[in-house]
Amino acid sequence: MERTYLMIKPDGVQRGLVGRIVARFEDKGFKLVAAKLVTVTEEQAKVHYAEHEGKDFFQELVSFITSGPVFSMVWEGDDVIALSRLLIGKTKVAEALPGTIRGDFASHTPLNLIHGSDSPESAAREIANFFAPEELNKYNKDIAAWI
Ligand code: UDP
Repeated sequence: MERTYLMIKPDGVQRGLVGRIVARFEDKGFKLVAAKLVTVTEEQAKVHYAEHEGKDFFQELVSFITSGPVFSMVWEGDDVIALSRLLIGKTKVAEALPGTIRGDFASHTPLNLIHGSDSPESAAREIANFFAPEELNKYNKDIAAWI
């Protein structure tokens, strides 16, 4: 079973969209493994955005993600990485289709509300950056057979 790291960014928390965004992943049938409201440290932000280090928007990304609390989550499901990125929508808000989280709620690209891992390797690195192993809950979802 695959896992992904999802983060509702400071704009999503400030705009009061946590509940509605979380509902989309619940509606899809994924299993919530862990969740917490946290303020990202400078060190965590640099690890999280390591692939963008050196680009002109890197410092802006770090400042934004550390500017207020984020809602940090781990979700589990078949193909959850690709499917959650479909639910999230394209990075550039102008390309994000209606029906996706960004397409429905975001209006400016850097303020695109939510992050989702793009590969199993990124997911493992990102989960370890934000959660201790004991924070990842082990439980059965009895409805799984129906999804
Ligand atoms: N970003 C941006 N301009 C770009 C590319 C990325 O402002 O040209 C920001 C945007 O907030 C994005 C984040 O950097 O969500 C991380 O970029 P990534 O390529 O990982 O996009 P994502 O996986 O979030 O869609």
